[in-house]
Amino acid sequence: MRLDVLAIAAHPDDVELTCGGTLLKMAQRGYATGILDLTAGEMGTRGTPETRAKEAARAGKILGVKWRGTLGVPDSDVQPSRQHKLRLASVIRELRPKTVILPYWEARHPDHYHSSTLGYEGCFLAGLKQLPIEGEPHRPFKILYSTAYAEVRPTFVVDITAQYERRRRAILAFASQFRPPKSEKKSKVHLAIDRLEDEMNQLARHYGQMIGVRYGEPFLQKELMQVEDVVKMEVRSI
Ligand SMILES: [Zn+2]
Repeated sequence: MRLDVLAIAAHPDDVELTCGGTLLKMAQRGYATGILDLTAGEMGTRGTPETRAKEAARAGKILGVKWRGTLGVPDSDVQPSRQHKLRLASVIRELRPKTVILPYWEARHPDHYHSSTLGYEGCFLAGLKQLPIEGEPHRPFKILYSTAYAEVRPTFVVDITAQYERRRRAILAFASQFRPPKSEKKSKVHLAIDRLEDEMNQLARHYGQMIGVRYGEPFLQKELMQVEDVVKMEVRSI
């Protein structure tokens, strides 16, 4: 297999919430896309790992991904340990992604910021010839960080206006997380459906506005952007 884009995150639904629109947009352009959930989300307040796996598969279908898998790291214990890095490196060698999307490296939830380090180091190790794992060495060409929930200025924003509604459906496919039964409606758990809809909308609108479109998803890359044609640059200045 050879993926064009692989998004890696800690819990099933993290990718949908941070860069689902971009993945869908790339799939619509004909690129082979994939999602690697590092954990099965078994520590979540709601839903069993089985339910979440079914929901994740459905959400992946809605986003048009070619591949979705779970690395099997224990939820709430994502760490850039040697063992996890080697496991991730094997998956990178198997999927051979050109671009990898990781969570930004600062976050409230330790699983989220550890995913960033684990993701980067796993991608790096995957390129080492002498590594004691199978498969041809491979390193992604580009690593992007999703900054949707981070307080940092992104390097660029992807216009997801045309993908917004479908991304919303993919997020809501995680019914156990976001559509609690009536008896639970008053729960204060972070990101219950009422708050989620607002937040989803506001975030996408905020980043969309920054590039003059309706909805957007923000990313950061450590490298500088190279520009060939300054006359065809996007986003109006004044
Ligand atoms: Zn998460």
